Amino acid sequence: MKRDRSEELFQKAIRLIPGGVNSPVRAFRAVGGTPRFIREAKGALITDVDGRSYIDYVCSWGPMILGHADGETVEALRSAIERGTSYGAPTELEVLIAEEIIDAVPSIEMVRMVNSGTEAVMAAIRLARGVTGRNKIVKFEGCYHGHVDSLLVRAGSGVATLGLPDSPGVPAHLARDTITVPFNDPEALKRAFAEHRDIAAVIVEPVVGNMGCVLPRPGYLDLMRELTRRNGALLIFDEVMTGFRLARGGAQELYGVTPDLTTLGKIIGGGLPVGAYGGSRDIMQYVAPSGPVYQAGTLSGNPLAMTAGLVTLRRLRDPDVYRRLDLAGARLCAGLMEAAREAGVEVTINRAGSMWTVFFTAGPVEDWASAAKSDRGRFARFFHAMLDEGVYLPPSQFEAAFISLAHDDAVLDKTVEAARRAFARAIRD
Ligand code: PMP
Repeated sequence: MKRDRSEELFQKAIRLIPGGVNSPVRAFRAVGGTPRFIREAKGALITDVDGRSYIDYVCSWGPMILGHADGETVEALRSAIERGTSYGAPTELEVLIAEEIIDAVPSIEMVRMVNSGTEAVMAAIRLARGVTGRNKIVKFEGCYHGHVDSLLVRAGSGVATLGLPDSPGVPAHLARDTITVPFNDPEALKRAFAEHRDIAAVIVEPVVGNMGCVLPRPGYLDLMRELTRRNGALLIFDEVMTGFRLARGGAQELYGVTPDLTTLGKIIGGGLPVGAYGGSRDIMQYVAPSGPVYQAGTLSGNPLAMTAGLVTLRRLRDPDVYRRLDLAGARLCAGLMEAAREAGVEVTINRAGSMWTVFFTAGPVEDWASAAKSDRGRFARFFHAMLDEGVYLPPSQFEAAFISLAHDDAVLDKTVEAARRAFARAIRD
């Protein structure tokens, strides 16, 4: 049998690049098999190097909210590239995107652009420590904030456990300053504050995407706000995924809870490498050169990322966008639920707007412990059955899937049809 081109490329890639990929989940380790090497993408579809097209629910892990190769974005980039790709000096575009972000996100009065979500979080943590003069950070089990040393920590069960690093190379003394508590557990958070006086910040994905999609219980984000305020700690919303995804003002707009600092990424770069962090003027004034907390970047605010970001953010001013994305999410997830029921597969589907996950468990899924109850074998079989049907889902149970504005009803209904067969295969194979 002729080996396909993805397979050939992967064999070559694994000799040249660790695991054959430039970011781990792409390697299909959780689901087995060979990752598809992508040649091109347009709208809701991605096409691999063997010419097979898939309805794409990864959307580059969130950024492609307009769909792939959006006409206006491509045109704007084409024109921008003619004027040079990076200057290392300020541009009008950076002022425009700052205005756009500040107008949209309730907590942000000043913003600094960086080049990835990881960088944004790293800078926000440094800033929180610099402003408070404290070191400890509270994070939630199952939340991911990029590969920042001090946040690559997931303590076992138990409350306010002293952290152990998840990755070799993370110094234990850094991990010790990270306190990990279960998500959606008010008592655990209260205990963390009762036991530690020197908490600089609480960092959270306000709607979690990185254990699959998990929503905060009513009042949980308000409790975080109250406890941090009362104890002189800052509240950081990591909205790298949820920013401009759940609403123009992110989860903070949706839930009406205003953090001290917010990190952004993904959508604000329109598919180019980007990140940002922002907050109140008082806090952001601590950042160099206006203040003492250092942070810099050769390519930060580069004209290509700013151009793609600006086109995207301007289109997202239209409130109808979020209504349409929510309707699309509701239509798809109702269809998937019905398909699972018909096939006799027990699933829990969590959804916030256009962000969703099918968990292979009776649920409810509200934290890491309940997400981890999912049948990962079933998920892997479902994933591959969907891939065979021409639907590309995130290749891990513990990731959120995304819908773009290019996913029309026909595409959503085709996905549900595919899922009818795929759910049956998930329990049969
Ligand atoms: N924070 C969150 C909530 C994320 O989802 C991610 C990436 N998935 C990051 C931070 C890191 O962003 P990046 O991969 O751009 O470094």
